[in-house]
Amino acid sequence: MDYIDPHIHMVSRITDDYETLARMGCVAISEPAFWAGFDRGSVDGFRDYFRQLTQVEPRRAAQYGIAHFTWLCINAKEAENVTLSREVIAMIPEFLDAPNVLGIGEIGLNKNTKNEATVFLEHLELAVTHRQSVLIHTPHLEDKYQGTRMILDMLCDDSRIDRGRVLVDHVEEHTIGPVLDAGFWAGMTLYPVTKCTPARAADMVEQFGSERLMVNSAGDWGPSKPTAVPDFIFEMRSRGHSESLIRKIVYENPLEFFRQSEHFDWQPRA
Ligand SMILES: [Zn+2]
Repeated sequence: MDYIDPHIHMVSRITDDYETLARMGCVAISEPAFWAGFDRGSVDGFRDYFRQLTQVEPRRAAQYGIAHFTWLCINAKEAENVTLSREVIAMIPEFLDAPNVLGIGEIGLNKNTKNEATVFLEHLELAVTHRQSVLIHTPHLEDKYQGTRMILDMLCDDSRIDRGRVLVDHVEEHTIGPVLDAGFWAGMTLYPVTKCTPARAADMVEQFGSERLMVNSAGDWGPSKPTAVPDFIFEMRSRGHSESLIRKIVYENPLEFFRQSEHFDWQPRA
């Protein structure tokens, strides 16, 4: 089955992973900007990273027939440095016309601090000003519920935000309801250490339906599995769910969400 992974960090993965993804049916991916595992020291470090996301990775993906899209931001883990964050936010428009940029992300909260909230709001301002879609990271484990509530409050307080153009990622059983109820898209991240498993994701589909719902691997430089979306497909099939339901979640929903971005003109293979 053709599928799309809407959240995967390919700069951290080897080229063999692209080949494996292609063999598994992956036809497109989207790669949000994230934390490199260390705090970058300057705005030029981010400029180079954004060149990698807009120039290098699309070429690497294309060698395996995979379309590569991306999202730009400074990650919440680096938002404590508000000065650097503002420099990065001011520089992002240099890249907004790159053909594979879908919007601003993954912005959000990490430890739910005041500085993180400040930088989150300034990213939202950038997205509104430039009519960009938004991809959101919600915090891990014990910080998730409160952080998700804070994020939803900030989003809902701004009437300029089109909720249909916002994807809230890393939802779990206790956060998926409020995200969908408020009219946002929700992403379930299949991750071996924290976050969710294919079985829990299938449970959530059974409970919440398939509207505005996606799954992703969030494959990165840590313990993660870039082929987690095919694992979800396998789990759904083993439970007897229809191919059309599975396809909606792993292919049609991401396409519908991506198509709202100005640059997204990718055509599905015939
Ligand atoms: Zn991520």
